[in-house]
Amino acid sequence: MIQANIKLYGLFGDPVGHSLSPFFQNEAFRTLGINAVYFPFTVKAEDLAGAVAAIRHLHMGGVNLTIPHKEAVIPLLDKVEGDAALSGSVNTIVNRDGELIGYSTDGDGFLLSLQREAGFDPQGKTCVILGAGGAARAVAFRLAREGLAALYLVNKGAERAAALQKDLKERLDFQAEYVASRPEVEKVAAAADLVINATPVGMYPESRRMPDFPLESCKPGCLVCDLVYRPLETMWLKKAGELGLPVLGGLGMLIYQGMLSCQLWTGRMPEEEPLRAVVKRILER
Ligand code: NAP
Repeated sequence: MIQANIKLYGLFGDPVGHSLSPFFQNEAFRTLGINAVYFPFTVKAEDLAGAVAAIRHLHMGGVNLTIPHKEAVIPLLDKVEGDAALSGSVNTIVNRDGELIGYSTDGDGFLLSLQREAGFDPQGKTCVILGAGGAARAVAFRLAREGLAALYLVNKGAERAAALQKDLKERLDFQAEYVASRPEVEKVAAAADLVINATPVGMYPESRRMPDFPLESCKPGCLVCDLVYRPLETMWLKKAGELGLPVLGGLGMLIYQGMLSCQLWTGRMPEEEPLRAVVKRILER
């Protein structure tokens, strides 16, 4: 039932058609018994300022942001907190009595997935991240804060990797290394405790593709993670499993970052299982 005092939340992005967030967040509100509704809004890059102003004018509780707005939104906000300020990427806006505050739940979402689903503690470990885009950035900052011993960045283009490396150094005094040549990549694969695919390679509809990384060189026990969650088991994870390596898919990060956004808006953490069931049902369809 839509009631007069219902609180409005939403997703700003372009495109938003395939997003799972509306199913997820509406189920979260329902299970928490909160009178709120979450809508997907297609917001073009040139309309972002107007859409952010509407959060205030319509007294919305807040929004999530997706491609292409996570960085561009920062100058439009009153404040940016925590990981969002460090990584320069906002995925959640909270409207606190007209003050718009930006947060990022991506890094914490990944860390929770790593800890709860894989029992993995990043402190003192060696990690390789494939990709240097928004997701790689969120994960790199969060893991660096968690006390990684070494971080190697493998990316197609040197430019974004260099920018991430520079920001990690300047903002956290953390030295990551950019690895480019094949022999170097093989060497870091052999040293890694954790390898993370933060590129879209292998994502539906190109599900038969795999990141170009020598999984055969990984040592036994090296945890192989894929942030891609569509399909739930990527070809890359399948191959890692066949090599006897432990694996972690992207579904957990998706669930936890969404639960953390809901907690920022409502002050309450929704229960995990009903949300996991909703998202899995849609992804398996
Ligand atoms: P993004 O900002 O566009 O960055 C993509 C990165 O992947 C870039 O560094 C890019 O390299 C690299 N890349 C793109 N195509 C490639 C290819 N064909 N071969 C090798 N590298 C390639 O994207 P993003 O937001 O970081 O998202 C990356 C992936 O993470 C997506 O699949 C997304 O669905 C997933 N993700 C999952 C979650 C979750 O909750 N599980 C959350 C966020 C993102 P260049 O720098 O050279 O362009």
